[in-house]
Amino acid sequence: MTASGYFSGDYVAARARFLAAAKAAGGRLGSHVNPAPGPNGEALATDTAWLGPPEAERVLVTISATHGAEGFCGSAVQAGWFESGLYREAPPGLALLQIHAINPYGFAWLRRVTEDNVDLNRNFIDHDAPYPVNHGYDQLHEALCPREWNDAAIAESRKVIEAYREKHGAWGLQAAVSGGQYSHADGIFFGGHATTWSHDTLLHVLRRNLAKARHVAVIDYHTGLGPRGYGERICIHPPDTGGLARANAWYDQDITSPYLGSSTSTELSGDNLAGMVAALPHAQLTGIALEYGTLPTEQVKLALRADNWLHLYGEVDSDQGRAIKAQIREAFYQDADDWKEMVWERAVETQRLALRGLAEEG
Ligand SMILES: [Zn+2]
Repeated sequence: MTASGYFSGDYVAARARFLAAAKAAGGRLGSHVNPAPGPNGEALATDTAWLGPPEAERVLVTISATHGAEGFCGSAVQAGWFESGLYREAPPGLALLQIHAINPYGFAWLRRVTEDNVDLNRNFIDHDAPYPVNHGYDQLHEALCPREWNDAAIAESRKVIEAYREKHGAWGLQAAVSGGQYSHADGIFFGGHATTWSHDTLLHVLRRNLAKARHVAVIDYHTGLGPRGYGERICIHPPDTGGLARANAWYDQDITSPYLGSSTSTELSGDNLAGMVAALPHAQLTGIALEYGTLPTEQVKLALRADNWLHLYGEVDSDQGRAIKAQIREAFYQDADDWKEMVWERAVETQRLALRGLAEEG
């Protein structure tokens, strides 16, 4: 089978495929049903598959659909890892935990956010403490999320956004827009005012499965940033922690860090890796996001803004709604053989390096 064969066209097909592949490989399955229904009334769930010794001390964890609509990519790698038989390469004593569609609502509805409009990768923050302030976002919110969505409104908002870019640079603009914000629940890159279902589910799955783990590798699959088809290994462990040094060693120095300015991603607040580290104090965690490029950033951002408008003010079941959904699907999933091939090759290489890294930890 070529890599393209591992990809599914929607959440329902992806879920069925993952479950069948995991079962055929002999995985121990778990399922957590999300409270929201899918667009066709279907049940939505995060599914997990564990393969290997039940009390393994070294575990490779893969996660798909942290940003729902990005789930096509990670889901294909997870299913493909089983279907191809590559899971058999795991060194003795090592276990694999695949977490499929941690944000099933976003995957099914083609949204980057959860059912409560929250960016899951900005939600792992202390919700009892004062939230970080993002003045740049506050200034841009109205322009980013206009009441109307048409050519005139987009052109008008572009002026405001360009003026901000002139003043603060492209990097300053990116940090303001996508670094995370806690002031506008109806905005984009909103980190939430409470833990989301996906947040709670992720920590529950990890605590339940990794109580005995000492070394944990996490690969969280993302799309939408960077050159088309290229998989950037973004390590968001802070520089003064062992995680960044371990990731550098495991992945042959081929990683980037938002903290060191070497990544296409800016620094984030409330990322899920920080949440996972805190939830597993007994384990040494080495995590990366594997981020694949799709379309140019401007197009991705435009699709996100359109989708935000659609769910606030528009009709999903309308011509404009369908056009926006096609736009967002393309922004996070390139339905083309060459792209899928690149995704798969890089994922296989990365997961092999993670297994080697885990096996070599003392
Ligand atoms: Zn993402």
